[in-house]
Amino acid sequence: MSDDGRTTFTWGARTDVGRVREVNQDSVHAEDGLYVVADGMGGHRGGEVASAVAIETMVEPDGMPRSIDDLIERVRSAHEAVLHRADEEPSLAGMGTTLCAVGRLDHPDQPGMLGLINVGDSRIYHFAEGELVQLSEDHSLVGDLMRAGHLTPEEAANHPQRNIVTRALGIGDRLLVDYWEVPAIPGDHYLLCSDGLVDEIGDAQIASVLRRLAEPREAVDELVRLALEAGARDNVTVLVVRVDESANPDPDAVEGFAATPSTSEPDVVAAFADTGPLVDDDSPYPSRTRIEDEPLTWRERRRLAAADDDAPDHRTPFRTRGLLALVLALLIVIGGFWVVASYARNNYFVGFEGDQVVVFQGRPGGVLWFDPTFEDAAGLLRSDLTDAQELEVEGNPEFGNLGDAQAYIADLEERVADVEDTGTADG
Ligand code: MG
Repeated sequence: MSDDGRTTFTWGARTDVGRVREVNQDSVHAEDGLYVVADGMGGHRGGEVASAVAIETMVEPDGMPRSIDDLIERVRSAHEAVLHRADEEPSLAGMGTTLCAVGRLDHPDQPGMLGLINVGDSRIYHFAEGELVQLSEDHSLVGDLMRAGHLTPEEAANHPQRNIVTRALGIGDRLLVDYWEVPAIPGDHYLLCSDGLVDEIGDAQIASVLRRLAEPREAVDELVRLALEAGARDNVTVLVVRVDESANPDPDAVEGFAATPSTSEPDVVAAFADTGPLVDDDSPYPSRTRIEDEPLTWRERRRLAAADDDAPDHRTPFRTRGLLALVLALLIVIGGFWVVASYARNNYFVGFEGDQVVVFQGRPGGVLWFDPTFEDAAGLLRSDLTDAQELEVEGNPEFGNLGDAQAYIADLEERVADVEDTGTADG
């Protein structure tokens, strides 16, 4: 605790344009007791102006925020300031910015509390006892879909529309602000970042850096370095603040550490319900939309998420079974065809083609759609044969292979020759 009895912090903050963008539209502010990250959006300088104006307005009033209401009021002022600036400069029309903040609250009767604020898809993480937890909810299209159970976290992380933000300062007349009041517990870290960090590195990697590097400044440098190494397609901003000493004499005893935020002005949601998503088509930057649905309660979200978790368990085996049945049916068809074809074709017989004695491949009369085919002609005609030999050939003697059939023909020719010789001798 500082001499004046306030909670004390150590922090580090850094913002980087990244490897692809030409302009850094993120803004960051860190001073003793107030920590803010903003990620601006909008063409023609709009994004960088929006995030800068929002943060200037947030930190302008003298002194620290005394209450969570004061912090929310500052965010409202920042929202008005962005709107006002866009009105003044038509080229900045449509600009907006996300904003997340952690501030020390100076309640005389409840010391050692922190106020947390979020609007948009920048993030606030809480890191304590080696565990990293995302406190803020992403106010984005994929964030909504994920919370409703339609996307897995992995699908959301790689979704092509993950940049569509559903809430932002500077967009719309009224503003919905998520807020928390949490006790300042010594050793706890809060990490604030723009989406440029989490687009490049995952929560597990962030957690491992925070476990390894206890000094906020070192952790911030390492996280930005990793994002740059991973490609840094967007601007990257990281702020880490650690609680050193708490003004709260017994922070663990504070009830209601809110894992999920409250939202200001839930009545506003109903007023917007009919407008649907608002998409800024002119902007070359990711579209922004306004919240279009009543926020689900924690319980409803859990239920939806659980229902969707169940679905793949049923879906996958069903699909596998269906595929297996199809493959088996095909095998039966192909196998059956092969068996019939083998039976029909792996055979030879001798018969008449017109008056000529020939060897056919196949079965006499054919099998299903396999007709016998001509294979070899003997040098014999029907008229060469005795009545007995003619009947013999009409009986279609069958053979397992062509050689046997040809041997039969040779034998028949020999017998015919014998008959002719005998006839000549007799004659
Ligand atoms: Mg960004």
